[in-house]
Amino acid sequence: MDCLFCKIINRDIPADIVFEDDEVLAFNDINPQAPTHILIIPKRHIATLNDIADEDRALVGRLPQVAAQLARERGFADDGYRVVMNCNEQGGQTVYHIHMHLMGGRRFTWPAG
Ligand code: IMP
Repeated sequence: MDCLFCKIINRDIPADIVFEDDEVLAFNDINPQAPTHILIIPKRHIATLNDIADEDRALVGRLPQVAAQLARERGFADDGYRVVMNCNEQGGQTVYHIHMHLMGGRRFTWPAG
């Protein structure tokens, strides 16, 4: 499958991996927008938020759980952090394998750009 993040899961291309279990992989974003910027992905290929099936509910629920765990480990869980999932072109999605951005270590503004 011609998917960048599947290639990272399969170790076909390198990434700075910070968390892995049977279902989920997390690695540092190559173009960080915050002192911590991690992408958290399911190992199962799901192209967009629109493609999440009923059977994926538990798997997708693990993404914010892992985000919170990584935030706690890095010491900014209590100060706060931002998680983002972009969907399709107008939503700013550029890689079509769902991913949760975890950004922390600075103050964020709202609304997002
Ligand atoms: P999106 O725009 O929400 O789809 O986010 C895709 C993210 O993947 C962007 O923040 C990119 O910087 C990041 N990215 C693209 N290629 C790589 C890579 O090879 N390693 C790590 N992050 C990547």
